[in-house]
Amino acid sequence: MGSILENNITYLKGVGPKKAEILKKELGIIIFDDLLNYFPFRYVDKSKIYKVTDVVNDSTYFQLVGRVTNLVKVGDKRMKYITATFTDDSGSIGLIWFRGLQWVANYFTNPSKQYIIFGKPTVFRNKFSFTHPEIEDYIPDSLSASGQRLEGIYSSTEKLKNMGLGSRGISNLQKELLNQCANDITETLPDYLISKYNLLDRKKAMINIHFPVDSSIISQAQNRLKFEELLLIQFQLLQQKNSLSKKIRGQVFAVVGDAFNEFYNNNLPFTLTGAQKRVIKEIRFNMRTGYQMNRLLQGDVGSGKTLVALMCMLIAMDNGFQSCIMAPTEILANQHYNSITNMLKNMGVEVELLTGSTKKKKRIDIHERLLNGTLHLLIGTHAVIEDTVKFKNLGFVVIDEQHRFGVAQRAKLWRKNSIPPHVLVMTATPIPRTLAMTVYGNLDVSVIDELPPGRKAVKTMHFFDNKRLRVIGFMREQIKQGRQIYVVYPLISESEKVDLKNLMDGYADMMHDFPMPEYQVSVLHGKMKSDDKDFEMQRFVSGKTDIMVSTTVIEVGVDVPNASVMIIENAERFGLSQLHQLRGRVGRGSDQSYCLLMSGYKLSAEGRKRLEIMVETSDGFKIAEADLKLRGPGDLQGTQQSGVLDLKIASLVHDTELISQTRNVAEEILSIDPQLDTVENVRLRRQLEQIKKGKKNWGRIS
Ligand code: ADP
Ligand code: MG
Repeated sequence: MGSILENNITYLKGVGPKKAEILKKELGIIIFDDLLNYFPFRYVDKSKIYKVTDVVNDSTYFQLVGRVTNLVKVGDKRMKYITATFTDDSGSIGLIWFRGLQWVANYFTNPSKQYIIFGKPTVFRNKFSFTHPEIEDYIPDSLSASGQRLEGIYSSTEKLKNMGLGSRGISNLQKELLNQCANDITETLPDYLISKYNLLDRKKAMINIHFPVDSSIISQAQNRLKFEELLLIQFQLLQQKNSLSKKIRGQVFAVVGDAFNEFYNNNLPFTLTGAQKRVIKEIRFNMRTGYQMNRLLQGDVGSGKTLVALMCMLIAMDNGFQSCIMAPTEILANQHYNSITNMLKNMGVEVELLTGSTKKKKRIDIHERLLNGTLHLLIGTHAVIEDTVKFKNLGFVVIDEQHRFGVAQRAKLWRKNSIPPHVLVMTATPIPRTLAMTVYGNLDVSVIDELPPGRKAVKTMHFFDNKRLRVIGFMREQIKQGRQIYVVYPLISESEKVDLKNLMDGYADMMHDFPMPEYQVSVLHGKMKSDDKDFEMQRFVSGKTDIMVSTTVIEVGVDVPNASVMIIENAERFGLSQLHQLRGRVGRGSDQSYCLLMSGYKLSAEGRKRLEIMVETSDGFKIAEADLKLRGPGDLQGTQQSGVLDLKIASLVHDTELISQTRNVAEEILSIDPQLDTVENVRLRRQLEQIKKGKKNWGRIS
């Protein structure tokens, strides 16, 4: 019999099909157990009522009691948003809703009634206000009488909030769930670990993580659940590492031959940096061992990873093997193609480009030459992993900017040869060194920690929008000196149509206020056909245009050394690693480069911090660390983007001690009981088996 925790979430009281659908979509919650494992990221003291005048920052949650008046519906035929005024005896603050408008309009009928509102303030039109706060009728004494002082705060999304599943709504579901199933929560860790490390039992931990009886138990509950989470990850990483290094036979690249040497002596456009040399050596040794290479190549933007990859491909060629580079976007695949064919000039290496827009005739030709072995190097987008693409003898695979590709896609490339090719994953998203081993426990890591000589650090400055005139003057001056400029607009919404509008509006405004008819402009955005994208990109690359106005499609990898100014509009809307990537587009030539971060006056505490960090440092590792620290686990998008490990409760930044502790525990257990077949480890084995099976059970089939 399955546990009740495996029931589909629709069977929980208070969740109908609609809510179930949205829980699945937004949070991946499908069965009872998924909800149980959706933890609060912080707690608030529910008995505390703040005053409006206390609302002086936007980094914490506030609970207020007061009246709601001045409901204003904005919009003509269709309501666009609703504003209202919330008033207590200390003052007033604005409320705003953009969705669920009908409900809001019907809800506040009595201006003298008191409500509790709860939420994090936001800045709207230069004032603090609450956007989509959680609302309840205020019943005097209910707060102190309920006994439960500490309330868990859960991450939620706009869509969930619209369905009544803000933090408090989710908390209510947890209450219902625990009422029904607390006794079905079984232990998952061996007893000897629980007593040795003084851990809470699982049931107690679960109850208290959602509804802590006091504040001291919160950290115990968290510790217990983090321990379990990290320990299981360590087991998986160790087992993967063992099986990889033991079992997978690899191609032996025994020699370095003509292709490599000829390139090195005749075609290499500059001297390699020390770091590039070291890394090429590491890779070369790795590919000689007879075991398959799985290596992560980390190097900050502009550190010259492409060249390293290219030289390794020449080694593959010297040993009679074909190679393949997979890039995340067409623009980038194109760029690799152009720069690589350029560098390989007169060497007789056959290189082709394969993307979604490759014409059929060309495609067939490529397929043929891959199969008969006359094509040495294939560069492309994920088009290269399609089943129709077959190689005669694929020996070396490069995956560029790895964060866009999943493990499954990597595996697909493996299968393109009976003995799998060596794999080099390149990323500029620097994972702090201390964490790399844990995150990529199954990959070896090489680091390029040195930039090519002669690079000047990019000067980064933050300007408020009212300094626009100065910025325009600066643009003119730089263009006069022959430089080129990027202007990047953020993806404000998920809809590409709206983005395009933002881009066009922003750009049109700028040109209207500060016309620069003498300059040529390229425009690039995600909605464009790939031919057009290419065309625009090429105009900029070849220097025909002076300014490239773009959305973040240029974020990754684009290399135009003559571009020396990066202007990022609404910079506060970007994440740190994105800003770093964008900044990496300049500073590639020998000229002094600049990155100008534009923002409005009112910034959230976190937004301000991000911009400060960007101005302060250009060290990718420091930025990555700061990034992980800034995005709390409460930031849904953040945790998804970090994406490497799907952690529910532990943090790679804050729990470094637990990470190494659990690493040691797992190593010790595996050294005594490698297959976990002893009786005392049976719970661990079961957990790992379930994880392997790819998430647990029947309730998921809906
Ligand atoms: P990334 O690591 O971001 O992929 P690229 O491979 O695009 O960096 O290299 C950035 C720029 O630096 C390119 O224009 C490349 O030609 C140049 N470059 C690479 N290696 C060297 C070197 N050793 N000396 C000088 N320039 C180099
Ligand atoms: Mg690159």
